[in-house]
Amino acid sequence: MPTGSACVGEEAQHVSIVPARDQDPGKGTDARHRRRRDAGLGGDALMGWSVGYDSNWNRDIGYGVPAYCDHPGCGEVIDRGLSYVCGGAPYGGEHGCGLFFCSAHRRMAGDARNGVQLCTRCRYGKPSTHAATADHPRWMRHKLDDASWKAWRAENPQLVEAIRDQLRATARELVQ
Ligand SMILES: [Zn+2]
Ligand SMILES: [Zn+2]
Repeated sequence: MPTGSACVGEEAQHVSIVPARDQDPGKGTDARHRRRRDAGLGGDALMGWSVGYDSNWNRDIGYGVPAYCDHPGCGEVIDRGLSYVCGGAPYGGEHGCGLFFCSAHRRMAGDARNGVQLCTRCRYGKPSTHAATADHPRWMRHKLDDASWKAWRAENPQLVEAIRDQLRATARELVQ
């Protein structure tokens, strides 16, 4: 399981998604990340990415990002890696919405959609997707505290403030 701490390291600054198999193995990854890919996600085709940014949903994605399942009210802690994405590909690929779901909230698509894993909305052709859940507090704190996000914090003071607000709101919810 990702801890949201040291594991995102240098890659936290990356803003695009590059499937691992398309990367030059000598560049942009260190041995720790490669080991994690090999151990964590298995399979050749779906190797995963550590931390990227989804500009469709405006949030951080990748297996380095701890997160809640996007099914309303679920609360299962997963990560935003390829293992959990609706559509089985970055941004959801051709058939999915690109949100992230625990095993209880994913379904296998039929042959017409290449058997990819989909959320229940996409699987059964509902006209709208689920809403994205808020980031996991552990991830929000990581962005506020970790040295690897220092440059990002300096460039995005409003986003930093938004995270602080959200964390405060989350804390209030827990109290109530
Ligand atoms: Zn979906
Ligand atoms: Zn779930």
